[in-house]
Amino acid sequence: MLQQELETLLKEAVAAINEAQTNSKLQELKQKFLGKKGTLSVILKSIGKASAEERPLLGKLGNEVKNSIQASLDSKEVEILENSSYIDTDFDVSLPGSQIQAASLHPITQMAYDLNDAFLSLNFELFSEDDITSEQYAFDNLNFPKEHPARESMDTYWLKPGATLEELSTEDYEKASKRLCLRPHLTGASVRYLQANGAPARFVYPGQVFRNETTDARHERAFFQYEALIVDKDFSFASGKLLIETILEKVFGHHVPVRMRAGYFPFVEPGFEIDMQCQVCVGKGCSVCNQVGWLEVMPGGVPHPNVLRAAGLDPEEWSGFYINIGLDRLVMMRYGIDDVRLFHSTDLRFLEQYK
Ligand SMILES: [Zn+2]
Repeated sequence: MLQQELETLLKEAVAAINEAQTNSKLQELKQKFLGKKGTLSVILKSIGKASAEERPLLGKLGNEVKNSIQASLDSKEVEILENSSYIDTDFDVSLPGSQIQAASLHPITQMAYDLNDAFLSLNFELFSEDDITSEQYAFDNLNFPKEHPARESMDTYWLKPGATLEELSTEDYEKASKRLCLRPHLTGASVRYLQANGAPARFVYPGQVFRNETTDARHERAFFQYEALIVDKDFSFASGKLLIETILEKVFGHHVPVRMRAGYFPFVEPGFEIDMQCQVCVGKGCSVCNQVGWLEVMPGGVPHPNVLRAAGLDPEEWSGFYINIGLDRLVMMRYGIDDVRLFHSTDLRFLEQYK
């Protein structure tokens, strides 16, 4: 009697499983036949009432039925999976897609590319260096005195030396304590380039620099700079000024008045502060230029003899001209924007205006 019930159950279950089309239907059938309150459990519970001779046989048969049903479920599951589509059946191919918004270059990147074009057209080479540099390249090679305030942590982000440094010998420690920092300016790359390539040379090396300072409308902790260097024999200031005017004219599309004032920077001798006419007020005076009509956009000057020596060049033989262009400031001038922090705000409402 029970034996017949078990056999019927197996036939019914296998038939139902073969009919199933979805995984959820399979789960339902599993509950129905093999679940705790399922048909098989009910039948097995009544085995206790059977005669002592029948019980082991029925128990064995019950087990076989259970295994067969489970095997049918498993193979059907594989079959459903193999025949299923990757596309959800609710997917409606006739619906219009959502439009992907076209992105654009950041205005600072656009300016850097425009400068690249301007310099490359004058036969300059493009060079780049890592964001992390050493005290040797950031300061020592560039004629910064040992006690120069820019070396202090107030201005420069020094990297913590690795824990293993403490275990080094004094001599090794001194070598290792040529500290590493986030580059506070790009100029270190000029010596690296000259050491590798020698002179004469003309190259640009744009990048991001890092300063440990308080942000305000004209200062940022991390900002882009764009530096250029020519090294040649008998390179004159007049040629330097003409270079700046040529570059600004290429970038702004019209002549931009420039003035040079004496300025002191350790790595140049003589050094200049190079101002351009404020393009926001066209020289009349505004909040961007502190009402003076001019904006300091680039320090520059002739490489200091000690810098040329650090680069392996004879200062008696070689001369040249540095300019370090404040990219953020040029972008402020190009679009008449008075707060440099907007460029780094990641506010797309602001940035989308410069597509
Ligand atoms: Zn102005």
